[in-house]
Amino acid sequence: MKKGTELVHLGRAKGNFQGAVNPPVYQTSTVLFPTLEAYHDAERGREHYQSGPEGTRTDPAYGIGGTSTTFILQDALQTLEGGECCLITPSGLSAVTLALMSFTKAGDHILVVDTVYGPTRRFCNKTLKQYGVEVTFFDPTIGAGIEALIQENTALIFLESPGSLTFEVMDIPAITAIAQARGVKTLIDNSWATPLFYNPLSHGVDVVIHALTKYIGGHADLILGAVIGNKKAATPLMKTYKNLGITASPQECYIALRGLRTLQARMERHQRSALEVARWLQARPEVSRVLYPALPEDPGHAIWKRDFSGAASLFSVVLKRHYPFEQIASFVNQLRYFGIGCSWGGYESLVLDMNPSGTRSATSWQPEGSALRFYIGLESPEDLVADLEQAFVRLSD
Ligand SMILES: *Cc1c(COP(=O)(O)O)cnc(C)c1O
Repeated sequence: MKKGTELVHLGRAKGNFQGAVNPPVYQTSTVLFPTLEAYHDAERGREHYQSGPEGTRTDPAYGIGGTSTTFILQDALQTLEGGECCLITPSGLSAVTLALMSFTKAGDHILVVDTVYGPTRRFCNKTLKQYGVEVTFFDPTIGAGIEALIQENTALIFLESPGSLTFEVMDIPAITAIAQARGVKTLIDNSWATPLFYNPLSHGVDVVIHALTKYIGGHADLILGAVIGNKKAATPLMKTYKNLGITASPQECYIALRGLRTLQARMERHQRSALEVARWLQARPEVSRVLYPALPEDPGHAIWKRDFSGAASLFSVVLKRHYPFEQIASFVNQLRYFGIGCSWGGYESLVLDMNPSGTRSATSWQPEGSALRFYIGLESPEDLVADLEQAFVRLSD
């Protein structure tokens, strides 16, 4: 089956759910069993979805471990990423923190990419440090140079590609080759690419994280996360999930499943429109650079082309000069179709000014001009371009 067909068919065996097209929302805390024997069997492994090795499944005997709605979403994401286990968490950030807590203990050292999602960085610097974990940030373009940063006590390397806000593409296979040789786990935040455009487990990564909030939800009405791991990662992830008491609402899992069905059609459209808008922006006299690996001029283009099968529609633009905040605000406020907000992945376009210099330590962000992050939604790109064109007047003086 191709990915597009999988997205439509996963978890929808013919004749299930009394003929309903979509799996229903199983909303329950208590799960009842016909016999005491069946109850104990269920505790040992999921009765209906027992494809995974023992100990890699959430508890089917009580709603905290999920209901059938959750299990169908878990299985779908696990299949799409080629993993051996999948856990659903109440947000993308909690998926990140669950994964980090599963593979660290007091006295460990971890390596985190400098361009990581801001709240992930904050969790490492605040919470993990509080529990005795030492954190070193590294340049996203480090590649095989990561070897020099690995210490005796390095437990994991946390990756995100392309980087948040600045979109540097990482040489993941170069890093995982070294990590595997040194016995260090690798974790990646794959929210930008979605399971459609990049499958890190096939490049040697151990654990993949998704903010389902973004493209998979796709309609700006969901907050949910997922962690997908290989076989070795399954037991530590499961134990931490269970011990922390994490769970996700079946209603939210249903929304994520519904989003999955249309993911390919949406991503194709997002990608086409983003390329069109990005190319148009590149040609503007006010624009110095567009930070978007899908463009051949982008420094990360070659690696992106080698490893990814598509590009998401989130990118940044560096202008040729620094404008006063009031002028940037006037440009942004003038836009009719670009919402002013942070959580991308929905159907609607977004824009924000951006300046990551305060959250970088291994790299320095010294751009030639003001910078903006654009998210290209499902509107007609002609309208988006026309909207940008009328707003650019605010940047001429
Ligand atoms: C939004 C985002 C998250 C967090 O997702 P939430 O559901 O908002 O917690 C994690 N990683 C990346 C790259 C994101 O963009």
